Amino acid sequence: MIELVKLTIEKAHADLVSGAYSAVDLAKAYLAQIEKRNSELNAYLEVFSDVLEQARVADERLKSKKNVTKLTGIPFAIKDNILIEGRRVSSASKILEGYVATYDATAIKKLKDAGAIFLGRVNMDEFAMGGSTENSAYGVTKNPHDTTRVAGGSSGGSVAAMAADLCLVALGSDTGGSIRQPAAFCGVVGLKPTYGSVSRSGLMAMGSSLDVIGPITKTVADSEIVYQAILGKDSLDSTSIDSPVVVSKKVLTFGIPRDFLKSDGIDASVRENFEQAVAHFKKLGHKIVDVSLPSLEYALATYYVLMPAEVSSNLSRFDGVKYGLRKEGATLLDDYLKTRAEGFGAEARRRIILGTYVLSSGYYDAYYGRACQVRNQIRADFARVFAEVDVILTPTTPTPAFKIGEKSSNPLEMYLADIFTVPINLAGVPAISIPSGTVTVDGKKLPLGVQLIGGHGAEATLFSASKQFLGE
Ligand code: GLN
Repeated sequence: MIELVKLTIEKAHADLVSGAYSAVDLAKAYLAQIEKRNSELNAYLEVFSDVLEQARVADERLKSKKNVTKLTGIPFAIKDNILIEGRRVSSASKILEGYVATYDATAIKKLKDAGAIFLGRVNMDEFAMGGSTENSAYGVTKNPHDTTRVAGGSSGGSVAAMAADLCLVALGSDTGGSIRQPAAFCGVVGLKPTYGSVSRSGLMAMGSSLDVIGPITKTVADSEIVYQAILGKDSLDSTSIDSPVVVSKKVLTFGIPRDFLKSDGIDASVRENFEQAVAHFKKLGHKIVDVSLPSLEYALATYYVLMPAEVSSNLSRFDGVKYGLRKEGATLLDDYLKTRAEGFGAEARRRIILGTYVLSSGYYDAYYGRACQVRNQIRADFARVFAEVDVILTPTTPTPAFKIGEKSSNPLEMYLADIFTVPINLAGVPAISIPSGTVTVDGKKLPLGVQLIGGHGAEATLFSASKQFLGE
């Protein structure tokens, strides 16, 4: 029996190399766990039929001792908006039912080269729009810590799979919090890398100026291993960059945006947990100072103009001709209308309409143009603060995981769940959510997370501080 609960990439790698068990044994252990828990949690939309064949190939590589990497034989769950050649991929939308990817995302190609194994594709909010996976066309994913609650979103399938040991590591995507918020709700580590440091090629576009792929793992060390494996400039994504390497200092200065923390709707348990985290970093020998980021107050409003604008443009490709679902009408326009009305869920339609509106002539300057200006202000605010501090610390979410159905009828309330994560995507800087304890609600222990935000390319600082916090 392989003990999955405490298993990390580092430990599994050591075991695979020493021959304690094979990649096939490891894959079988995860398949058995998926069999046991997935019908209840709805994390996987599809478990691939060739998992054991992939594992056999990894075993040969391990046996030959050639080209073995830390990821050889390591089983991944992949969010359903990341392309794997020859496999179905749907962004949890009806409009892409039955669609098969024609190429590998660059991140996937890198993982394949490293010898990773793909267990299957996991659930999400449709086209990554949402914070609970309630917008999936294939049903909600449940939180393994309390199945009456959401796992968070949009990478809800990825984090639930992680938290219930249905994979050893998962890939997610983050446009406004979709890796960090669910990671906090499920008690795992979620990294949103610097914008552009991981190629977007083969990630289905939501908000192209905000999107980034990142790892969801049990430990910070594992997060670092996966990040190192997938980063890098890529000729297939012109916004990708070779991230500047910022070496972490021993004693760090942490900035606490006190004004921002006064926002309404932050749970008392979250405030208390956050203060404990601040005290913990202080005890570790770091310096704590207050910082002010006045433009953050406008971040959510800015995001909900810019993101839908990009969504409306990105989703225009789903027209019933090029991809997936096709509904025939009397005219070409009719084809479009029928296909899109039937294929997209309510939230996707809401954002397409909103985005088209803010981009329409007569409103462009008033909404899109102004939002771009505020975004510059937010970036400038972060740049100013990062000249003084190494890390900005916030809670990841204003509340622990909420009940299924609690916010689904009120989009505005749902959007507020991203208050701490959205500004980071607007600024393009990296952030990591790490578990910071639990709060007991209705007799269940619900995880909470804190978010460490760094300057451009400062992932090493985030990893180092997070490891100290968690005692890794
Ligand atoms: N929850 C946010 C939204 O609904 C963020 C989504 C994401 O990061 N993909 O837009």
